[in-house]
Amino acid sequence: MIEKLRTMKFKTILLFGAPGSGKGTQGKILGTIPGFFHSASGDIFRSLDYESEIGRVFWEYAGKGQLVPDDVTIRVWKQYIQGMEMINQFHPTSEFLVLDGIPRNVQQAKLLEDTLDVIKVIHLQCADLAKMVERLRRRALRENRFDDASDEVIQRRLRVYENETRPVLEYYPFEKIVRVEATMSQIRVLSELVRVLVPLKEARDRERAG
Ligand code: ADP
Repeated sequence: MIEKLRTMKFKTILLFGAPGSGKGTQGKILGTIPGFFHSASGDIFRSLDYESEIGRVFWEYAGKGQLVPDDVTIRVWKQYIQGMEMINQFHPTSEFLVLDGIPRNVQQAKLLEDTLDVIKVIHLQCADLAKMVERLRRRALRENRFDDASDEVIQRRLRVYENETRPVLEYYPFEKIVRVEATMSQIRVLSELVRVLVPLKEARDRERAG
């Protein structure tokens, strides 16, 4: 199984966008559609035991609105996805991987090059920064997200996005990038995503059948 993982790249859809752009909300919905497996790096980190060494590293960085170091991030994510494959939750030969929150900088994109076959990058773009900040504040209250509890941390997270994460868009070929306006209603964003994904899924089904 591990050997197979090393040789087979995961067919991947990247959900890309600033904190608060709705990647997580949309990713969770897409993950309920047969043929799509959703993986959010933030959720993986938040599920770690606070007492474990990696858990402590995560809280140390995330609490300040900073990125967890790349080597730790990639190691944790790869272990998680291998685990999911081993327990038969993720089926890479038939499913698309829907990634949200990773890769978060160009170095991570490079470190994942041997693992991911990126088919599309969906950029949930939003020109209205105030709207993002408002969403983050609301989510912090609703979901107990300590990292968005203060405006200072929110501002730092948005800066980290601009400086470190946004350049990832230039790492992937222009023709793979699809832009979707993140301020539309959730159901309209979903409908745009589905419109992009239907032909990819059907093409893959045909390939597997033939
Ligand atoms: P959001 O969806 O609001 O952007 P996430 O839940 O994806 O936030 O991430 C929360 C925190 O977890 C980040 O601020 C960062 O500290 C850490 N994190 C998540 N994914 C990564 C990653 N790929 N690389 C480094 N740190 C990460």
